[in-house]
Amino acid sequence: MTRIIDGKAIAAAVGNRVREDVAALAAAGLTPVLAVVVATDDPGATWYVRAIGAAARRLGIGCHVHDLGPAASAAAITGLLAELSSDGRVHGIICQTPLPPAVPPGLAAQQIAPIKDVDGANPQSLGMLAAGMPGAFPTATAAAVAEILDHEGAVLEGRRAVVVGRSTVVGKPTALLLLARNATVTICHSRTEDLAGVCREADSLVAAAGRPKLIGAAHVRPGALVIDVGISSVGTTGGVAGDVDTGTVTGIAAAVTPVPGGVGPVTTMQLMRHTADAARDLAG
Ligand code: NAP
Repeated sequence: MTRIIDGKAIAAAVGNRVREDVAALAAAGLTPVLAVVVATDDPGATWYVRAIGAAARRLGIGCHVHDLGPAASAAAITGLLAELSSDGRVHGIICQTPLPPAVPPGLAAQQIAPIKDVDGANPQSLGMLAAGMPGAFPTATAAAVAEILDHEGAVLEGRRAVVVGRSTVVGKPTALLLLARNATVTICHSRTEDLAGVCREADSLVAAAGRPKLIGAAHVRPGALVIDVGISSVGTTGGVAGDVDTGTVTGIAAAVTPVPGGVGPVTTMQLMRHTADAARDLAG
């Protein structure tokens, strides 16, 4: 039987730990503060920023949203990020995507000081992660995948892990976290030959391609843990689908995350955890 992993329950458990950490910091006179820079009116981004604000409020974390509007210039965005990076009252910073088309990708993120880069957006953070250097955060999504695998008791050391997707937001940092847990990691992408055959080698399979139902029965080794990061809009009524065709892997996988209700809620809580950790690190 395939278990459907309850991402909301895992998120709640992470949230409880973060709440305790925040209470301990508050007792020492420190309230973690997350700054969210927004330069878009994209509905998905607006929804996510609201969810971040609500989670922060529930956990006692300060959340300041700086909405520059969808016409913001690159100079306004980078200037604000640099200012927040040197503001001692701010502990975590995220720059919500998408950014206005005129802002070169990566330029904004480079202004976020790695110690405050709680969503691992600065390429320097990814480099530090790759080098195994302390002091950098992985993206919240990659941390969520690792958290779910840990929570599920996945044995990673010495075992095969396959990550489908090589973006800097999900695929690469996830692969690095699994490598750090001594898994033997393969990264697949759109040019991978025999995707199903490669995926079938995985004890832990992470799907992060953004292609609905890409991963089916032919891709899953019996007993594998399957983490579905993909979220794609489907239909006209606001529905979403993951990368995994859950119906066809049921009975083959040991467990699979649902979409929605799997990786998403855990990602938001990882962002909170990173913010509390950043506040503690900055306070020395
Ligand atoms: P992305 O930047 O578009 O990257 C997608 C990756 O998938 C690319 O590396 C691409 O390969 C690969 N790919 C695409 N089609 C493929 C195929 N047919 N076979 C094998 N590989 C294929 O997307 P992303 O930002 O990583 O996000 C991936 C998915 O996760 C999206 O659905 C996104 O909405 C979702 N997401 C979820 C969360 C969450 O918290 N739950 C957070 C972030 C993203 P190439 O490099 O060769 O093009």
